[in-house]
Amino acid sequence: MTNCAFCKIIAGQIPSTRIYEDEQTLAFMDIGQVNPGHVLVAVKPHVENVFGLDDTLAGAVFRATVRVARAVHAAFAPQGMSIYQANGPAAGQTVFHLHIHVVPRWDADGMNLTWPVKNPPREKLEEYAVKIRAAL
Ligand code: 5GP
Ligand code: ZN
Repeated sequence: MTNCAFCKIIAGQIPSTRIYEDEQTLAFMDIGQVNPGHVLVAVKPHVENVFGLDDTLAGAVFRATVRVARAVHAAFAPQGMSIYQANGPAAGQTVFHLHIHVVPRWDADGMNLTWPVKNPPREKLEEYAVKIRAAL
């Protein structure tokens, strides 16, 4: 895709600090560094979000993510680690080329994902599950 920053990074047309590469994926340092060691793992083909992944690419990107996560863990010894991936503006996606964030985490590091639980009754869970199972 001509106007995609991550396609340009993958093609080597704009600079990036590369971590790991295989046939299907490229991992590089996130320019924003929420915490030191924050890495992005992107798929090489221009796929906008999770819904465009085939099974091979899906497997490859998570395999690479786990490998990078282990390395970040070994390098920075964080207290925790968030693996984060956004699809669509409502979910916070800002670069529309599929990537997974590997973010080393520390107590009170300021990265707050609010989690507004609703705790609905069991019947609601069943109702939601029926819809999802029908779409599988
Ligand atoms: P999203 O919100 O789409 O999940 O995350 C996009 C991420 O890409 C952000 O964390 C941002 O810092 C990072 N980013 C945006 N443009 C560039 C760039 O040109 N180079 C690098 N290395 N990271 C970028
Ligand atoms: Zn792209």
